[in-house]
Amino acid sequence: MGMRLEHIGIAVKDLSESNDLFSALFGEAHYKIEAVESEGVKTSFFKTGSAKIELLEASNENSSIAKFIGKKGEGIHHLAFEVDDINFELDRLKKEGFVLIHETPKDGADNKRIAFLHPKSTNSVLIELCQDKG
Ligand code: ZN
Repeated sequence: MGMRLEHIGIAVKDLSESNDLFSALFGEAHYKIEAVESEGVKTSFFKTGSAKIELLEASNENSSIAKFIGKKGEGIHHLAFEVDDINFELDRLKKEGFVLIHETPKDGADNKRIAFLHPKSTNSVLIELCQDKG
């Protein structure tokens, strides 16, 4: 068990520009681009050692990424931790007093089930839990 840092999500205004920027930074291109319609986001992923970098661009103005950038500008949006049993962890964290944004996991990018904890219960850090669909 335990949580492993799986990726860091970064909100960007222009995914194509940021793909170029981060490709130059890492010396390696992203390995996939994926739209998550339910979240109103377009994502790209970079491999960086044991944890990935996920860039997130809003695909519509109601997207949580559009709201985030409107309030805070571009930058680190969330930390994602991989767990072995996401339902068990959500239950455990709820009992610990954490506020869940998603009571039950939903489909996310990169073939995962995901759920978010509300930043008001985590020192203003948006936390994502994820589990491989396998
Ligand atoms: Zn994520």
